[in-house]
Amino acid sequence: MNPVHPPSPPAKLRAVRGMNDILPEEARKWHRVESVFRRVAELYGYGEVRTPVIEDTALFVRQIGETSDVVEKEMYSFERHGDALTVRPEGTAGAARAFVEHGVASKAPISRWYYLGPMFRGERPAKGRYRQFYQAGCELFGDPGPVCDAEMIELCLRVLRELGIRDLTVHINSLGSGDTRVRYRDALLTHLKPKLAELSEDSQRRLEKNPLRILDSKDPRDRAASETAPSIVDVLDEADRAHFDGVCAALDALGIEYVIDPKLVRGLDYYTRTLFEIKADAADLGAQSTVCGGGRYDEMVESLGGPKTPAIGFAMGLERILVAMGEQPPPEQPASVYLAAFGKGSVPAMLRIASKLRDGGVNCEVDAREAKLKAMLKRAGSSGAAFCVIAGDDELARGVVTVKDLAAHAQEEVRLDDVVEHLVSKAKASPPALSNLPGEVGR
Ligand code: ATP
Ligand code: MG
Repeated sequence: MNPVHPPSPPAKLRAVRGMNDILPEEARKWHRVESVFRRVAELYGYGEVRTPVIEDTALFVRQIGETSDVVEKEMYSFERHGDALTVRPEGTAGAARAFVEHGVASKAPISRWYYLGPMFRGERPAKGRYRQFYQAGCELFGDPGPVCDAEMIELCLRVLRELGIRDLTVHINSLGSGDTRVRYRDALLTHLKPKLAELSEDSQRRLEKNPLRILDSKDPRDRAASETAPSIVDVLDEADRAHFDGVCAALDALGIEYVIDPKLVRGLDYYTRTLFEIKADAADLGAQSTVCGGGRYDEMVESLGGPKTPAIGFAMGLERILVAMGEQPPPEQPASVYLAAFGKGSVPAMLRIASKLRDGGVNCEVDAREAKLKAMLKRAGSSGAAFCVIAGDDELARGVVTVKDLAAHAQEEVRLDDVVEHLVSKAKASPPALSNLPGEVGR
């Protein structure tokens, strides 16, 4: 027989690097961001679309581009049942795929979709940069702009401002379409070729295939080489120029300030014409200050086999938004009731009261631990409850319970038969227990 080894302690399993748990207290802040986003999106006529988290790898390779960082090194791809699949790194390609698959273009000339959900990119984790992160985004199909481009930027600003984020800067550019990009590519190649040796290894490799990408590089060597590069806005053709001017005019009409940033190209290949980013000036974000990025992708729907359909979209990074929001008053909680079953015989009565309170829409928690009264009251205080119901065996024998108003430090005896109605009306009238601060909305 083998000698018996003492079992080794189990290795602690941890969340995958770059992927975060969001516990309930933190999740409350997320709900606020998500509900503001949903409400603002609905204000502009958007409806939610939910697409699968996994798509065919080919969708992303073709749309995002073979030489993009995302496709080259960041995708979580795998094979299952003979299919090459990828956990989505972004939401636009899947939305456009669904748009084509369901023949939506033939049903309505314009569709406005929004989505919320996790995205996956195997990047180097840093503050505001994770491997699983959440995006909220909108896609507008069927409107060639330029007015809707500006309105989409306004939508983003409205979300961010409603969340209390100040010091936002809008950066815009145009990538042109068709010929413009070919002409700009040539101009950029002419500028960068003599500097080939000064570029990062990645950029040296990509120069011929995709010189635009070098403008988006975060490597200081590439930044130096592209400093004096020609500007794309100088090579726009007449139609692209008119479109870009139209975006600027609509932004002016909306009173939105913006910076024209001719080096803004962004990391995904599918963009055409309008590009934009919104940066938040939050010290905590460091290099990850871009909270929102978007642009036009007028060719994607057609390239997926759909009819020619202009489109524009954006995505905002929820983790970065939460950092930019900083410390804010805790979200309002509805008044809740803590039921302390003091005395064994009181448990059934407490369970019935709790059940009826929940029927009446009041949050409550039953404490049937048979703990000491002091411990139960302490826990009631820290639970954030507005009211505590205490029932000992002798009180129940008299047909009453004690109701404590935890904020007012007052208590009264209430008849068992009346306690549910009494608490439902008190809870409805009571201000939130955790915070008496108003929900922060402003600009
Ligand atoms: P960056 O230049 O910061 O890498 P990106 O251009 O790759 O951003 P997009 O693909 O346009 O970003 O995504 C839109 C937004 O999603 C970003 O502005 C950012 O707020 C957020 N985002 C992108 N990648 C990450 C990530 N790895 N972790 C957290 N948020 C992210
Ligand atoms: Mg990136």
